[in-house]
Amino acid sequence: MGVRASVGSSAPAVPGATAWYERAVENIGAGIEDVSLSIEGELAPVGWAGRVALLLVALAVAGAAVSALFGAAGSHPGGAGPAGPTTPPSPDCPARDHLSPDANGTVREGVRASYDYTFLFVTSDGCRPVRFNPCQPVRYALNRRLATDADVADFTAALGKLAAATGLAFERVADTDEDPRAVPRPRRQPDGSFAWAPVVIGWSHLGTGESLRARADVKADPTAVVGGGGRPEVVDDVIVTGNLVLNLDAVSDVTTKVAVPHGFGAGVNWGRIMLHELAHVIGLGHVESRTSIMNEALTSQTLSSSEWGAGDLIGLRQLGRDGGCVSVPPVPPQGAPR
Ligand SMILES: [Zn+2]
Repeated sequence: MGVRASVGSSAPAVPGATAWYERAVENIGAGIEDVSLSIEGELAPVGWAGRVALLLVALAVAGAAVSALFGAAGSHPGGAGPAGPTTPPSPDCPARDHLSPDANGTVREGVRASYDYTFLFVTSDGCRPVRFNPCQPVRYALNRRLATDADVADFTAALGKLAAATGLAFERVADTDEDPRAVPRPRRQPDGSFAWAPVVIGWSHLGTGESLRARADVKADPTAVVGGGGRPEVVDDVIVTGNLVLNLDAVSDVTTKVAVPHGFGAGVNWGRIMLHELAHVIGLGHVESRTSIMNEALTSQTLSSSEWGAGDLIGLRQLGRDGGCVSVPPVPPQGAPR
């Protein structure tokens, strides 16, 4: 541990253990709780024609080791972690015992997620979650080329719920045609200036795995479908931007291939997926609790509606205004990715 891994770095801090916390981007297949599908590293290279279909497909991040993440997750479906529900954060070290099993991009084999909330990135002492500066708006841009109005409406509603839970302000900037898979996010902005880019959110057709490079688990269950993937980009212990891709091909039932419904009701729906992914973007990790949006298996969640659970809210508050301001690092003068 103690390794600082800027997500999106082309050189993983730990070979084979690159940060990809979304591993799966949430299998939404009924009864399948441990599908190790990940967007990351799984996309086959595509040419221009392929890009038409895969334009917004997914997060392309170097490295994999995805199957190592939460390796035991499927072996205890619904099992509560050892920590018990919603333990209050320690004032002197609030992140203690709440590190994601792959905190800071380092996969800790065999470590299970805390019960109630976890952080994807923590400061080197392990005590503070890495987060956006809550004292300025988090800027974001949509690539909505493939999105319907209903998709955007779900997203907007989910973002509102994130703002309410964190106290963060989100500022939408002009829509973009950027590929949200492109990380790190560009430092050179459209006007030629260098700045931390807005978070980019895009919708994709990820298909049912056929568009992914062959993996054993994909072959084993080609119907597994992922919902999306979101993650932050960290520089000097601060989240400076991030990206989110949502899979328009996601289904809520792999047998009937029912498309994921819109809204925030019971069961799997776009609201639930978006809440989960947006929480990742601001630094929240997976948990054991089934009454949490951040349980990685959507079908295991027992929340009666797609709203934050108690543990989610504790973690989100710490990632938001309650944690106070943080200093955003300057953008590298040459705009070089780092
Ligand atoms: Zn997740």
